[in-house]
Amino acid sequence: MDKKCTACGSCGFPMSKLEDYALKNPESLYCVHCTNPDGTLKPYAEIFEMTVSYYKNSQGIEDSAARKLVQDLLTSFPAWKKMKEKENAPR
Ligand SMILES: [Zn+2]
Repeated sequence: MDKKCTACGSCGFPMSKLEDYALKNPESLYCVHCTNPDGTLKPYAEIFEMTVSYYKNSQGIEDSAARKLVQDLLTSFPAWKKMKEKENAPR
């Protein structure tokens, strides 16, 4: 496997070109779609909606099904895994 092909730590987008990385920095953990122009990670809700519409448009998945799928998908990535663990953590 080529070391250059990294998946985004937020949405799983495969980053193969320099343009795919946040700030075109190959050291970046996140892709250009998940980050603001200054390179910081966008809020979960924004990335969630973006990914939901991606699945709806590209795969023709129903809204409710797409939301369920994307929630499971995003919370399996490093950027949101901790968030999920926090939510499920006993108080
Ligand atoms: Zn991403």
